[in-house]
Amino acid sequence: MRIRKTLISLTFLLFLPVWAMSQTEKIDLSMIYKIKQEGMRNSNIEELAYGLTDFAGPRLTGSTGSNRGNEWAKKKMEELGFQNVRIEEARDFTRGGWDNMKTYAAMTAPYYVNFACNPVAWTGSTKGLIKGEVVLIDVKAESDLEKYKGKINGKIVLMPSTSTYEVSYEPLASRLTDEELKQLAMATSQQMGRRPPMDLAALMAQRNLRNKIMEFIKNEGAAVILNSAGTFNVPRSNGGNYTAGNPEPIAELNLPIEAHGRMERIIRHNVPVEMEVEIQNKFIDSPKIYNVIGEIPGTDKLLKNEVVLLGAHIDSWHGGTGAADNASGCIVMMEALRILKNLDVAPRRTIRVALWGGEEQGLNGSHGYVDKYLVDPKTKEHKPDYDKFAVYFNMDNGSGKYRGIYLQENDLVRPIFEEWIKPFADMGVSTIAIRNTGGTDHLSFDAVGLPGFQFIQDEIEYDRGYHTVMDTYERLVMADLKHNAVITASFAYIAAMRDAKLPGKPAMKPRTNVPQLQTPVPVMN
Ligand SMILES: [Zn+2]
Repeated sequence: MRIRKTLISLTFLLFLPVWAMSQTEKIDLSMIYKIKQEGMRNSNIEELAYGLTDFAGPRLTGSTGSNRGNEWAKKKMEELGFQNVRIEEARDFTRGGWDNMKTYAAMTAPYYVNFACNPVAWTGSTKGLIKGEVVLIDVKAESDLEKYKGKINGKIVLMPSTSTYEVSYEPLASRLTDEELKQLAMATSQQMGRRPPMDLAALMAQRNLRNKIMEFIKNEGAAVILNSAGTFNVPRSNGGNYTAGNPEPIAELNLPIEAHGRMERIIRHNVPVEMEVEIQNKFIDSPKIYNVIGEIPGTDKLLKNEVVLLGAHIDSWHGGTGAADNASGCIVMMEALRILKNLDVAPRRTIRVALWGGEEQGLNGSHGYVDKYLVDPKTKEHKPDYDKFAVYFNMDNGSGKYRGIYLQENDLVRPIFEEWIKPFADMGVSTIAIRNTGGTDHLSFDAVGLPGFQFIQDEIEYDRGYHTVMDTYERLVMADLKHNAVITASFAYIAAMRDAKLPGKPAMKPRTNVPQLQTPVPVMN
């Protein structure tokens, strides 16, 4: 009976088409065991986290802090024994560099209270400590601006609030439930991963009015502009649209919604509000955007020049220390390579880590890398390294643990990842979702037809924390980051040992029915 069954199976195998058999992935389970042990027992995640957050500090693109972060990463990569370590120029940065040297803001009447606040990047300084009455710009339409003519020169100006505080009934951090993971796995890319529809017309009208107000305030010569930043209880960092060499814009400050709201309500009750504010910023001439790169070179005679690329962006906003966004991604990628290095692996392909600069201002570092090595930006012709590009893995969704992987609509890798992910089912990593993820550096590779992916992550205080003064070391869940480094190291190793590179999406004719936005609203993670 047993023999007959075996015979039937063997006969069946003989008639299986060749392509089905060739898809069997070879997973070196003894190496996966070693990676898990090294990653969980000897992790460097805490030390790496300290270095890139507390020690290096905020890493705004073009700032002194971004240089400090790059230098720290390079030195650390060298210490860890990575090879070909370098800080590499990626692109020019038209905004120029900017450092905040001092920020202080307090309400002094009707009573004293100081405020946590954050200057808007690429805006100017106050003339020392300025004191005086706060003028609320109360306008619903451009014509309302007339009443402020000649009245705000040298004044502290409070912009009208554009949002209301949103009470949260959701937990700050949550694990994806089995049910949610099942929904992710079954959803088509059209069903999920799209941002909720925005009222674009209203958004544009609001933006236009704001531009008119800013223009007016600038012409009238206000001393400082105060904004309410975001809908949550900490100021979100952002930057002005400055081009290097232009005159310095008026000093501008983001206040927490509570501070802004309190002063606005007091003024609307006809009680005068006074403040003192001092902001000192420094503009730095024409800096570049840099990537920090290190690798374990490949060893196979034929495959060693092919590259498995791991990446995350090293730049941050200037309010916090960019811990979740995106020191977390950088240290996971560095730790993944450290694990492999410590295990003395001899990968067939080169495994490279790239920490991208200037992501927050438009994926500059990864775009610069693509331009330099992969696709000529002018002719769109592929460079020699294009055909040596095996796969790219990116992390940029905070500290949450990996629960699976997004296919970025690339159906061709599904059977491959289904095999790769199996040894991690007991760690809660088993979901494969077809959908796209957006807003960060894997898009630079996806856009030129190369396979680039992000993992599915739990939501750990990310939505409320990223880009804020609260995005610091405390936001990091070390156990989750160790877990992520183990998965990343395993995927990188399997990719580096596989016979073939990973398939990109087949080329298609451009879509003809893409809805056109007048002004796209880019949102960078
Ligand atoms: Zn980010």
